Amino acid sequence: MVDDSTIKEVRDRFRAPGKVVVLTGAGVSAESGVPTFRGKEGLWHNYKAEDLATPEAFLRDPALVWQWYAWRRDLIRAVVPNPAHYTLAAMERLLDDFTLITQNVDGLHAIAGSRNILELHGNIWRTRCTLCGRVYEDRERDLSELPYCEYGSCDGLLRPDIVWFGESLNETVINQAYATSQDADTFLVVGTSSVVQPAASLAGVAKQSGAYIIEINIDPTPLTGIVDAILTGPAGKVLPKLVMTK
Ligand code: NAD
Ligand code: ZN
Repeated sequence: MVDDSTIKEVRDRFRAPGKVVVLTGAGVSAESGVPTFRGKEGLWHNYKAEDLATPEAFLRDPALVWQWYAWRRDLIRAVVPNPAHYTLAAMERLLDDFTLITQNVDGLHAIAGSRNILELHGNIWRTRCTLCGRVYEDRERDLSELPYCEYGSCDGLLRPDIVWFGESLNETVINQAYATSQDADTFLVVGTSSVVQPAASLAGVAKQSGAYIIEINIDPTPLTGIVDAILTGPAGKVLPKLVMTK
């Protein structure tokens, strides 16, 4: 559980001058009602996410993959940010040098008011043409049929603008994430299983450069052994305890 002396130590860290970097994962949105991939409620029609969020699955059966994303869009559309998202947005306003790196694709950080966000794995509210690469912001797109590109006569099949398992991350975004992690004085990891690479390596990069590492999670992860402070508990309960007035 979270003891008061660790909370105090972490609060003092945030009060000190320096660069704060936060990496979030699916656990941050769990209390909003968005299932994590590794929790059992993350299953859809008995498919595991790893069997649907891949380029191979999309090539084999794009309609199936789109049905899954339509289901996930409907689920996410119905939820709102929770205190974890709001606390991170407040920290950005309070601290001089703050960067949020997220693996989440749900857009809830932006709705909560975060501005300086590096989205490592894309965004579920965007689609991308598999032929011309054009990106659409299309939260309200009708997905009852396969979506196609409307640019000129392209007509290419659209895919979610999401980084799937086995795909490379956007080079600019991951390079920025590495650079900012390397510069971090304090690095907070929240609600991620720390098994999906390269995101999982960012805390290690920060640690090697001398950053103080804090982890918030309900369970231990492969990272737990190397962190400086462990705050065990739901992100929506733990994070608000860390907010400080300037
Ligand atoms: P994950 O599903 O692998 O792990 C979730 C982690 O959150 C676990 O370690 C779990 O113990 C922890 N957790 C669960 N509830 C929590 C809570 N209330 N408070 C704190 N921690 C909690 O998620 P991941 O590490 O982000 O990696 C999975 C991949 O799936 C990512 O690439 C991500 O893009 C994608 N994904 C995104 C969403 C989303 O956008 N909300 C949801 C599911 C999966
Ligand atoms: Zn196109």
